[in-house]
Formats: sequence, C-alpha cells, structure tokens
Amino acid sequence: MKLTFTLPDCLCLISFFYSCKTCSSRSVIMERPSRSIPFGERACNRGSASGTAAPGNSSMCEPFGEEEYQPPIWKSYLYQLQQEAPQPKRVTCPQEIDRKPKHYGREFHGRISRERSVELLGVEGAYLIRESQRHPGTYTLALRFGAQTLNYRLFYDGKHFVGEKRFESIRELVSDGLIALYIQSKASQYISQMTCNPIYETLLMVKEQERCLQYEKAHSFKTHTFPGPHWCEYCANFMWGLIAQGLRCSGCGLSVHSQCSQLVPRDCPPDQWRVKRVFSADLTTLVKAHNTQRPLVVDMCVREIERRGLRAEGLYRVPGSSEYIKQLKMAFEREGEKVVLNEDAYPDINIIAGTLKLYLQGLPIPVITYHLYYTFIQAAGITNPEARLEAIHEAVLQLPPAHYETLRYLMAHLNRVTAFERHNFMSAENLGMVFGPTLMRRPNDSPISLDLLWSQSLTVQLLIQNEDILF
Ligand SMILES: [Zn+2]
Ligand SMILES: [Zn+2]
Repeated sequence: MKLTFTLPDCLCLISFFYSCKTCSSRSVIMERPSRSIPFGERACNRGSASGTAAPGNSSMCEPFGEEEYQPPIWKSYLYQLQQEAPQPKRVTCPQEIDRKPKHYGREFHGRISRERSVELLGVEGAYLIRESQRHPGTYTLALRFGAQTLNYRLFYDGKHFVGEKRFESIRELVSDGLIALYIQSKASQYISQMTCNPIYETLLMVKEQERCLQYEKAHSFKTHTFPGPHWCEYCANFMWGLIAQGLRCSGCGLSVHSQCSQLVPRDCPPDQWRVKRVFSADLTTLVKAHNTQRPLVVDMCVREIERRGLRAEGLYRVPGSSEYIKQLKMAFEREGEKVVLNEDAYPDINIIAGTLKLYLQGLPIPVITYHLYYTFIQAAGITNPEARLEAIHEAVLQLPPAHYETLRYLMAHLNRVTAFERHNFMSAENLGMVFGPTLMRRPNDSPISLDLLWSQSLTVQLLIQNEDILF
C-alpha cells in the first residue's frame, strides 16, 4: 500500500485520507481515490468546521458550500472547557452552628462577615454559605472564582437556586455555576458568534422531496435537562452545564441552545417524520437509552459485512455511494433494528461499511475519548513492544464501558477483516490508517501534525493486531 502525500499548508487534516474540496490540491489522500469521496469530505479548518477556531476568528461566518453533503462535525471546544472548569471545594465549618437551616450542611458558617468568608476561601472553586449579618434569615453563597470572591443571594424552595436553575444540592449548584463562570470567562466571544455557521441544514433527516412539500410550523421549545453530554443541533457546539443545558422541541426532539432556538427555521416536522437521532447521539447516552451493550448500527453493520463482505477488495477503503449511505442513515433513524441490510436492499457492501464509518465519525465524543487521546498516543509511541502493549492495555481499561465495549467489538471485527487480507487487501496497517481518524480525534480541533496522524494509525493498527490480549 502506497500513500500519496502532499504536505498541506493549510493543514486541513481533519480526515486523514479525504481530500478537502476547498483546497483539494493540498490535502492528504490515499492512493486510488478513484471514485468520488462522497460522505467523508469535510470543510477545511479555514472555513467553518473546526470547533476550536480561535474565538473571534473572522472566518467563522463563512457559509458551507451548498451542494456537498457533510456529516455533522461536533465542535469540542466548549466540551473541553467544561472538563477544565474548577471543581467545587466545600469549606466546612469546624463547630456546630445554632440556627442552621436543615437544608444546609457543614458548608454553613453562620453569621460570619464578608471579610471572614474571603479569608476562609482559599483555592478556586472553594465555597461556603453564610447568613447575612444585616438581614438575618437571608443567606449568601460565597464562591472563589477568577481570584475573586463572588457572593450570590441563595434561595431554597425545596430546591436550591441563585438564578433560574433549580438544584437538588448545593454542590450541584456550585459545580454548574463554576462551569458557567469558567466558560463565560474563556469563551464569551466564541459563544456570541457560535450561531453564525449553523449545521442545522445538514442534520435534517427529511428527504429532499419531502422537504419540497412546503410546510411551516414553529418548534415548541422547552427548557430541558439532558442526561448525558449533548450537542446543539443548530450550531454543533456543546451544551454546557449540569442541568437545563438547553431547549428541546416537544414535537420533534430538536435540541438547541437557548440562543440558537431563535434562529431555527419554522420547520418542525409533522409527527410521522419524527426521527430518533441514532446518529450523532452520545455513545453512552444512546446505549443507556436503548439498553444495549453497543449501538445497534455498529452491531448490524458488522454482522452484515461479516456475512457477505469480508472478501470485498478495499473493504472500508473504497467509499460507497453517498446517496445510498444517506438513505441508509435515514433508515436507521426511522426504523432502528428493523432496517434491512441484505444484498437486495444494498447490493454494494461499501454502502454498509461507509455507513458504519459515518456513524463512528459522527459521534460527538469519539470511541477513543478525547480524555484518553494522548494516553493512547503516548502508549503507542513506547518502543519496547511488551511495555507498549501493557500501556495500551491500561489505556483501554480506562475507557467508559460503552466505549470499551464498542472498541472491543470493532477491533475483533477488523482483526477478522485482516484474516481475509489475501482477498480484500486490507492489512491491519491499512485499516489503522482508515480508522485512525474515525476512532480518535484530538481534544482540540486545531490542525493536526503528520506525526500525530501516524501515531493515530499506529494506535489503531496495534489495537487490531493485538485485540485478543488487549481487551
Ligand atoms: Zn447552538
Ligand atoms: Zn420541532
């Protein structure tokens, strides 16, 4: 297998083996992309796609090209910020306080002065509750953030609140508040601009001809608490916070930021067009919702490929028709496990393989999570083979259960694909190149170096070759 490289100067290396339409001559491509590469094409960083474009990046408002279909690209910048936000640290009062309201715990310090509370709060994220000296019976949450002490009037009506959001516990309130403060301090400009390059159109599951039937109905948005990590289906950015992270349409399930809700067109689809959103849902949230070990798309596609596709030349490398892949994606959204994948429905196995890759690429948190990205990369870089496998094994064990199970299943499958290398010409090395960018993405979306691309490929190659001992 030869690889053709032309060194990119704009570094639009989001996808290793796909060329970028905007700057096609400067992309990294695999040998023999003889057919068009329909679904993998992504906008290059210069235009729009990257989430961690520097706040205020002037190119953020450039629109997508009109014709090409692009998979949604979930932007990780705000997700990363939430991960980095300071953790709440309760400052407890050493002595018993008279008149302590029942709903407060040891973080209640009684009638101490504002100055005393500043002394007590040392590190970022530290918090306590004090009773006002001037107005007994009113309570203040004192919180250390940004090297300052912030004071909030604290209320309780069965739940705790300082603003609109109601919380079960003070810790949850503080944790959510720290996330909001941290994101506001780091990304206020980014947030003010995040609506200007919506992905909404590319997410629509409704067939073109159906959309031509004109209809107009406003979405019915209501504040919603999303149980797992959730991304806005208008702007593709993370919906931060612990509760009430955004709004959800009670008609069609569309989930968006509050600020994005005002920009969504009045096109809430009638009930029969309601979609389940299997694609692009968070992996853990999806398997919990379906009560399965792995996403059904993964299981069903792998089973079908193993039934009739293992000998197909260039399996996973040769792209399938983008139209059929789009069709199959919609079929999964509408019919779930009832989707028919046999040769009558989809004669070309590359459609099934392409749909599986599309599913994996569309995960808002990749199968190898952002959190463990560099752990895997570093492990794969160890020169001693035994120590290297040991380190990869350690990294694998840290994956969240749904991610672990999905990766284990995929690696066992890809290992079986390599057993047919004589027919399909897909070695573990080739599959590593194909699946590197599909299974792993850097925690920030800034341009990736060729070294890292190779490390990703090597990581996946090693996972495939050693799946029997690593999992
Ligand atoms: Zn949004
Ligand atoms: Zn709706």
